[in-house]
Amino acid sequence: MSERQALRELVAALHARVAWCAETGLEVDAASPLAPRSAAAPTAPRADAPRDAVADGARREAGQPSAGGDGGPGVRGSAERATPVVSEAFDLLIEPAVRAAADLPQLRAAIGDCTRCKLAGGRTNLVFGVGNPAAELVFVGEAPGRDEDLRGEPFVGRAGQLLTEIITKGMKLRREDIYIANIIKCRPPQNRNPEPDEIASCEPFLVRQLALIRPKVIVALGTFAAQTLLKTRTPITRLRGTWTDYHGIPLMPTFHPAYLLRNPAEKRVVWADIQQVMGALGLPR
Ligand code: URA
Repeated sequence: MSERQALRELVAALHARVAWCAETGLEVDAASPLAPRSAAAPTAPRADAPRDAVADGARREAGQPSAGGDGGPGVRGSAERATPVVSEAFDLLIEPAVRAAADLPQLRAAIGDCTRCKLAGGRTNLVFGVGNPAAELVFVGEAPGRDEDLRGEPFVGRAGQLLTEIITKGMKLRREDIYIANIIKCRPPQNRNPEPDEIASCEPFLVRQLALIRPKVIVALGTFAAQTLLKTRTPITRLRGTWTDYHGIPLMPTFHPAYLLRNPAEKRVVWADIQQVMGALGLPR
């Protein structure tokens, strides 16, 4: 990319970021290396790139054109969400050590004993993520709860047990075959909703995790994960069940397992969403 082109992309990305901050109430501190920033494009190529027929299958299932451009219908519902910024230039705004991490252990090391936001003081363990670093499927949740904070592993409490059942009994996969992470890596006090500055500090870590894993499909669990990844305020009731796109990766929003514990009748629709995911991954249904 030429310097001029990089600069143009950077300006466009900053414009988009400012618009997103204005919509969400985030404050922009462009001088800070930890300033709120948008999701960056997954850039690290995986060993098996370019995408194979399964990935094309995922795109078709997701209503997107295949890599070869089969003239598919495009991502349904895209009019309802802001387009996430995809920019190499914007990627440069991510903290250098985090950006430079070449694999998940290096990324974890770059995060270190994190004190970038106020959640650091209340945590027992930073909950980075767990699973196969080359997973085709990544589940993204909100933030660790009490059990996760104590164990240092995402989704190990009651909601986690339900997610594990969806993975093992429903999808017939093992938990270790896939990858599970949260938007926020440290437990918010009393499990309150994460705040904008906490999201701004933590989101680049997930962006890099997804860039390194390069899954074929992402499932966003619940309002917070879906809205944060897609940069939208559209309610999860309208987002769920419809494929959308996260920097070229098909993303399926669905209800959070904790919501299913309170509303078991909704398991039916989550199962329908998961079956779409299985179809996209070429798993037997
Ligand atoms: N809820 C989440 O969103 N993530 C966890 O890790 C646990 C519960």
